[in-house]
Amino acid sequence: MTHEPARRGSHSLDPHLHRYAARATGMTASEVRALFAVASRPEVVSLAGGMPNLAALPLDSLSAEVGELIAAEGLTALQYGSAHGVPALREHICDVMALEGITGHPDDMVVTVGSQMALDLVTRIFCDPGDVVLAEGPSYVGALGTFASYQADVVHVAMDDQGLQPEALREALAATQRAGRRVKFLYTVPTFQNPAGVTLAVSRRAEVLDICAAAGVLVVEDNPYGLLGFDGQTYPALRSMDHENVIYLGSFSKTFASGLRVGWALAPHAVREKLVLAAESAALCAPTLNQLIVSRYLETHDWKGQIKSFQQTYRERRDAMLSALEQHMPAGCTWTRPDGGFFVWLTVPEGVDTKAMQPRAVTQRVAYVPGTGFYADGFGSRQMRLSFCYPTPERITEGVRRLAGVLADEIDL
Ligand code: PMP
Repeated sequence: MTHEPARRGSHSLDPHLHRYAARATGMTASEVRALFAVASRPEVVSLAGGMPNLAALPLDSLSAEVGELIAAEGLTALQYGSAHGVPALREHICDVMALEGITGHPDDMVVTVGSQMALDLVTRIFCDPGDVVLAEGPSYVGALGTFASYQADVVHVAMDDQGLQPEALREALAATQRAGRRVKFLYTVPTFQNPAGVTLAVSRRAEVLDICAAAGVLVVEDNPYGLLGFDGQTYPALRSMDHENVIYLGSFSKTFASGLRVGWALAPHAVREKLVLAAESAALCAPTLNQLIVSRYLETHDWKGQIKSFQQTYRERRDAMLSALEQHMPAGCTWTRPDGGFFVWLTVPEGVDTKAMQPRAVTQRVAYVPGTGFYADGFGSRQMRLSFCYPTPERITEGVRRLAGVLADEIDL
């Protein structure tokens, strides 16, 4: 769960409190990070973290490749590169994106330190303090942290099992406009969403794009899970349907190796230059060695076969979680049924507060993330995120059984 960033708090014992910039006050520890210490105890089944399961990676051939890479291209691989990113990698990324219908040009892409950095750059170039970002409710905690750090205000848009609701999007746009607020973009994870595990219906995709285009609002499509459909299925990326109004964020964290920190942004041509300048000022360039490792991996490994094996790993774990939920959860609990990605979103009966319940769950040796962390407005107290990506199917089953016991006690109180 270390992949989900902290939002650092400044507490009253901090002698530097009076020195911080106003934007630092928006940085507080995320619920996910706060759970890290307890959830990583071995006796606790953690359904809290979102760490990719890398066990299927071919470590032997990868280590040989990295050795060869340094032997053959060490002086380039260990050197600065352009903020734009390694050209060969950008070419290969176009092949990856083509799997979801995107025809991007390598020139319109910026390679970043994970898609988290791409999120930071996009917010940096578009958001002034007080600007509004529309985002699904619930939304990715790391994105909420980034928006807060640039003092942008998040207005959530309701979802259902088919993802973002177009009508709710229209209403949110109208309400913010009536209030005289400036909406800069819609941030969305349309496919296998974190944390809700739902996917925006294909029939809604064009409508969402049309609503945003008509309102003059950009769409930031964050798609780290899109290739992790459990039946190998893919959905057309929003970017594949609109080149002018969508900034697409991609990542190798879930399809290859999260620790390499290689992601990218594909922007409308006019925006690309600002992103490169922002990337330069943030980090000069993404690590050249890591970019070359990914580039070589895409050339020499059966990366599509590797993704299939990840799909299988996660499908087994999703199956274990859904059947355990079916078997053990008390009446009145409902949950999503993801067909890809890492997460299930669970809603508990009225009267149960998932944040208040959390210490009792940890006592019963199971951890989850309370729903409030995924909203900027305090909503989510009857929700929780359960991740099935990392533990074994047996541990998932046991974790859900423990959680159901805690919930049953809570409901009886
Ligand atoms: N977006 C979403 C929706 C995520 O779930 C994550 C990782 N948890 C990221 C972005 C960041 O991924 P990375 O920086 O590793 O590419």
